[in-house]
Amino acid sequence: MAQYKSFYSAKGCTRCELIINAAMRPTLGLGFDCKSTAEIMFIGEAPGHTENRTKIPFSGKSGTLLRKYIKDSNIDDVSYITNVIKCRPPGNRNPSNFEVKQCGIHLSQEIIKFKPKIIVTCGKFAMDFFKPFDSRLINTIQRDTSGCIFIYTYHPSYIIREDRYYIYDKTFTIIRDVYKAINPNFILY
Ligand code: SF4
Repeated sequence: MAQYKSFYSAKGCTRCELIINAAMRPTLGLGFDCKSTAEIMFIGEAPGHTENRTKIPFSGKSGTLLRKYIKDSNIDDVSYITNVIKCRPPGNRNPSNFEVKQCGIHLSQEIIKFKPKIIVTCGKFAMDFFKPFDSRLINTIQRDTSGCIFIYTYHPSYIIREDRYYIYDKTFTIIRDVYKAINPNFILY
């Protein structure tokens, strides 16, 4: 497994009761072989069983798929992976609005700290953090007032469950093309 660098920690946070279910240690936002800057930020939902054990976002089956696409796209040096929610909701239930609001401060701090050029939301809860989820926006590109480029896609667990790998094929083609456009020296593949 690749080496991971931790860039942001929510350790010690008690802003909501999910901490009780996370063995008193939230998962961290982690760079995935990130050299110095997190130019592309991938945002998922919340830790699952494996992530709760390893404390590494996207380290389970769906995370393996996401990381494979990132590595195969040659963007692993500049990619940062995190979740909207840092502690695992019990029984893998959806996080409540209160929990998203309380934990959102961490995600906001990660964005302020790393100033990603591209944000890739993976799944409903990640898109909902920025705007109401709309499946028509999947694999589209939007730019906010700060110039950050948003690319919306599905969570990798959905891609696996529905056997829709073609969606990620397109998502990562878009990511590579956008990153190449803002970094002309980037070598594709
Ligand atoms: S889920 Fe987020 S807000 Fe709640 S305790 Fe964990 S880190 Fe803090």
